[in-house]
Amino acid sequence: MRIRRMTALAALTLSIPLFVPVTPAHAGANVDASRPGKASSVAEGYGGAISTVDPTATSVGLDVLRRGGNAVDAAVAAAATLGVTEPFSAGIGGGGFFVYYDARKRAVYTIDGREAAPMTMREDAFVNPATGEAYKFPEARVSGVSVGVPGTLMTWQEALRRWGTRTLAASLAPAAGVAERGFPVDATFSSQVAENQAAFGQFGSTSALYLPGGQPPAVGSTHRNPDLAATYRLISRNGVDEFYRGVVARDIVATVQHPPVAQQRIGKWDYEIRPGTMAMSDLARYRVRTPEPTHSQYRGLDVYGMATPSSGGTAVGEALNILEGSNLRALPKAQALHRYLEASALAFADRNRYVGDYTSRGTLEQLLSDGFAAERACLVDPAHALPKPVAPGVPDGSYGGCSRAAAGEANTQGTHTTNLTVADRWGNVVEYTLTIEQTGGNAMVVPGRGFLLNNELTDFNFTNTQAPAADPNLPGPGKRPRSSMSPTIVLAHGKPYLAVGSPGGSTIITTVLQILIGRLDLGLTLPDAIAAPRATQRNTASVQAEPAFLNSPEAKELERMGHAFAANPEIGAATGIEFRRDGRMLAAAEPTRRGGGAAAVVSP
Ligand code: GLU
Repeated sequence: MRIRRMTALAALTLSIPLFVPVTPAHAGANVDASRPGKASSVAEGYGGAISTVDPTATSVGLDVLRRGGNAVDAAVAAAATLGVTEPFSAGIGGGGFFVYYDARKRAVYTIDGREAAPMTMREDAFVNPATGEAYKFPEARVSGVSVGVPGTLMTWQEALRRWGTRTLAASLAPAAGVAERGFPVDATFSSQVAENQAAFGQFGSTSALYLPGGQPPAVGSTHRNPDLAATYRLISRNGVDEFYRGVVARDIVATVQHPPVAQQRIGKWDYEIRPGTMAMSDLARYRVRTPEPTHSQYRGLDVYGMATPSSGGTAVGEALNILEGSNLRALPKAQALHRYLEASALAFADRNRYVGDYTSRGTLEQLLSDGFAAERACLVDPAHALPKPVAPGVPDGSYGGCSRAAAGEANTQGTHTTNLTVADRWGNVVEYTLTIEQTGGNAMVVPGRGFLLNNELTDFNFTNTQAPAADPNLPGPGKRPRSSMSPTIVLAHGKPYLAVGSPGGSTIITTVLQILIGRLDLGLTLPDAIAAPRATQRNTASVQAEPAFLNSPEAKELERMGHAFAANPEIGAATGIEFRRDGRMLAAAEPTRRGGGAAAVVSP
């Protein structure tokens, strides 16, 4: 359904090129050529490539590449457009993680634009003082308490300053145009409003923008966001200081401290809407960080990911290290999937116990060490699934047997975000995941500014999940909540080979992992690895799996081995690019999940 948006948009914005045709060799079952608009989930060619979940954003990024912009320029322009067309998953009210391969330096760099807690946030921020109980999730989410200081705009500025060739103003301009002219509402957009109708209906600013006549916008109607266009232009004129210290900062703080609850609410909301304590000083002190990427080796390749506060890099890396001892390619498919599920569960146990914003470098190194992986891998029984949850291991640098373990538990996280992958003709690559946490963030549009605030601080654990051990992911002043976002760049002999990422809360980790082993071990093409039915084991009693996975013969075998399954209609919405030895780039997005994504190349 997303594709429809492009048809009308292309008519509106003639400067934005149409999509390149699908390369038949890779089209296969992944592409529905009958859909209008020519947006495709697969494209192959030269001179630069881009893949996002949305045809308008892909189109804007492709245009930047065609006009000589580099991967960073295109990524920022595309992300700013996603803030308009995917406002429930991405935008300047949120945060994210930007991973960059610099072709000249032959090195991978990252930007941590994760939201930060206000300095007043206490460990018990999500515990109701009246009852001593943790808030229910919707009550925590739709509040001022859940809002972290947004990092997205500063991420864009920092990426452009360090590696880009265009200004922030130039990068925001196409997106401002889309916001002002509008775009046709598709089924995904409309349904994302519908699933948020009760929450959005509590706030005048949000219902005015997203509930015209009290209802979700009709599919095919034109959605305009002039306030967001004006906000982008204000920032273009005055710089990001306007957002972190100026009038936009003032409006964010007012929204957090005095949620803009409507006089006439639409629909019923069963929870108290609590204010937060974020202050102007919290916005003013916000900085992006630039940590070293995580690094692990897998089958001779170098895998780079996101360091803390994301757990993505360590969890994907640890699971790959555990799997490296198995020859997945040679094993029957069910056996390979069994090892994938077990490695995921083990890595999640360790993530939950050890990974948070302040995890020491030493612990992170141990989690990614071969010795620790070997100790964890020897717990895997080829014939039987381990009882879940499994206990975390002890990453203390002294490894030997299978026996050492602490005690386990489960985890939760939201399900929506967005991801994009871009490469340019010079060989630079961006893998970028950005989010406002839940679909619809905390449901509050900043009045007059046209963007939703995040609820990222609900990614903290509300109470200790690891007792009697310490929980690394409890709230704290200035602290950043643990993420699962896993933008990943894989190098072969120092050059890009694969870049991939996905939304999906904590399932991001397993989605990225499953795509990597699909491509690297199981003989799938990148488009097929992205399209493949997914299953996710995050150290819980049952494996969540998509219907096509549940119906596969392998699922029956896995059940016989003791894996329990629960259905999940859709897991993740990935994008990726593969780099061929001859210089060709193969860009791939989802063929159907979230309405299908859009991949394009500069020269097919
Ligand atoms: N907030 C989640 C995280 O940082 C992402 C949200 C999602 O993808 O649903 O891991």
